[in-house]
Amino acid sequence: MTDYVKIFDTTLRDGEQSPGFALTSPQKVERAHQLARLGVDVIEAGFPAASPDDFAAVERIAREVRGPVIAGLARAVAADIDQCWEAIKDAQRPRIHTFLSSSDIHLEAQFNLKREQAKTRALEMVRHARGYTPDVEFSPMDATRSDWSYVCEVLEAVIDAGATTVNIADTCGFAQPDEFGMMITYIREHVGNIENATLSVHCHNDLGLAVANSLAAIRAGARQIECCVNGIGERAGNAALEELVMALTVRRDHHRVKHGINLDELVPASELLQQFTGIAVQPNKAIVGLNAFAHESGIHQDGMLKDARTYEIMSAAAIGAEGTRLVLGKHSGRHALRRRLEELGLLLTQDELNHAFAGFKSLADYKKEVTDEDLVLIAENGRRAADGVFDAIGHVYR
Ligand SMILES: [Zn+2]
Repeated sequence: MTDYVKIFDTTLRDGEQSPGFALTSPQKVERAHQLARLGVDVIEAGFPAASPDDFAAVERIAREVRGPVIAGLARAVAADIDQCWEAIKDAQRPRIHTFLSSSDIHLEAQFNLKREQAKTRALEMVRHARGYTPDVEFSPMDATRSDWSYVCEVLEAVIDAGATTVNIADTCGFAQPDEFGMMITYIREHVGNIENATLSVHCHNDLGLAVANSLAAIRAGARQIECCVNGIGERAGNAALEELVMALTVRRDHHRVKHGINLDELVPASELLQQFTGIAVQPNKAIVGLNAFAHESGIHQDGMLKDARTYEIMSAAAIGAEGTRLVLGKHSGRHALRRRLEELGLLLTQDELNHAFAGFKSLADYKKEVTDEDLVLIAENGRRAADGVFDAIGHVYR
């Protein structure tokens, strides 16, 4: 088995279809160029049958963006697949991605189909898509809430019909990591022709497990991961691309697979999406949050100033972020205060620093973050306090 994991980005399809994350066509095209710079293997550019606007954006991306495979999503319906092909046919490497549910709850309650009928439709539609392009992906929707043996039957049939990627969708974010890994192993053991297709997964984050489930799937042999920048997507979102990629990178010793992502584009990719959607990621978001490389507590700051490896497992610069931030707040220590004052050109004697530190601590009790402007005043007051004119907080001695 290859040790290369393909990164399939669906920010423009699954991500874009979530509330508040709609993008205009020009924004989608710019994002697709950004994703190509990021080095994703596949861009799912949209769902051409969903609206004329979606069709136009997918068509433009297919014509303009070079490098990654450009995929369009289509229901397992001939007219959708025809339209999808129309939109992506000018791509350097076009892919039709079609899907049909495999769970009884979806088949019975939503589509009124029997398992046998659904399987026949899936393989017929894969065959139809293969009439257009040799690169066809099939997803059993809601696979993780389906009978595993039925999922295997469907996969064997669609691979026989020409599917080159099969994508196990945890559509409702229901799976647990160890169980999902077992499902992938089961599929590899029970689908006779599985070696003829790339095994992919698509995980949702309803229980906060999308990245963990994706990593468990990789360990069990999945070699394509569907994910979104900043973890956006339906409901609680999809697996976050930057988290997955950094887990594979930082813990390469553990996962032992490669990927093709240009790490220094991770933060620019995240920032462009936040700018386009107007929705910022939470400050404590892994990898790309404002606090991901910020340290406030004295012990951590002291360690960071001595050697960044003490409290950081990856470098901010490597992923295109500005760098570590030592935030001065009430938990910070004298060492960090001195370093910041020096950076601002404020060189204090030990006595002045001691007074300034007292002033800093008392201000930090009132302010969440002490700014550079505050520090200039704190240093000045420290000097005066050392001269016996003021106390450290700036009160005049009487
Ligand atoms: Zn999805």
